[in-house]
Amino acid sequence: MAGKVWFVGAGPGDPELLTVKGRRLLEEAGAILFAGSLVDQAATLFAPPGCEIRDSKDMTLEEMSAWLLDQTTRHATVVRLQTGDPGLYGALVEMTRPLTAAGIEWAVVPGVSSAFASAAAAGETLTLPEVTQTVILTRVAGRTPMPAGEELEALATHRTTLCIFLSITLLHEVQRALRAAGWAEDAPIVVVQKASWPGEEKIVRGTLTDIKKRCQAEKIASQAMIIASPTLGAADWPTLARSKLYDPAFGHRFRKASAASEETSA
Ligand code: SAH
Repeated sequence: MAGKVWFVGAGPGDPELLTVKGRRLLEEAGAILFAGSLVDQAATLFAPPGCEIRDSKDMTLEEMSAWLLDQTTRHATVVRLQTGDPGLYGALVEMTRPLTAAGIEWAVVPGVSSAFASAAAAGETLTLPEVTQTVILTRVAGRTPMPAGEELEALATHRTTLCIFLSITLLHEVQRALRAAGWAEDAPIVVVQKASWPGEEKIVRGTLTDIKKRCQAEKIASQAMIIASPTLGAADWPTLARSKLYDPAFGHRFRKASAASEETSA
């Protein structure tokens, strides 16, 4: 038998944030390789009896590929379950290339990224008309260096929303970069730890000046998303530019404009 390997996004933690397709594949899986403690709940909740379930936390990439390949000789459906979306910091191509080389079929099922779960948890929007229409998903350099031109300091000069992954222990570096890019000391920043995890989620709101101190006070040192954005707190602003999407003067495919509109959407 030559089974197929599915790289499934488990979502940010809450098993209910798994996609319907992801859940179906877990229910059909003969073997599941899951990435660390953050997704074991989904694996164990939905896996069928007799399914081979393995945590990848102590495995090298080579060992993971070998394990997945081996499972395809016995099972039609093999799942690699990853946090959030598999295409973000998930070593996806490193794992798919050996499968392709071995002639094994594979496919990816997207997941809810922690960037979106964190914004949702905080009740924040990542885009806002006339404030910012762009979101940058990034990190600061750790063991993985940043390619030239992608230093946070450079990206932050755009004044867009920044969702910063894998960087909570480098919050001082985030602060330095935002200051160097000219962000104000009172610029709002929100940090969300274990977004969507029932009973474990923490939301810390602060400013460029005090966010590190506040995170330390809450003992947040892992599994956290840093969101720096000019949109933060907009729910409480006294005035807001009106979103064109719901403006009566703005027509689109599903609604006729009630007055002349200046642009149309496809
Ligand atoms: N593919 C994942 C990201 C993996 S990198 C995704 O799309 O979300 C791991 C980083 O993701 C962590 O360092 C943290 O910054 C973030 N992260 C993962 N799960 C999280 C959660 N539930 N809450 C907040 N941040 C989370």
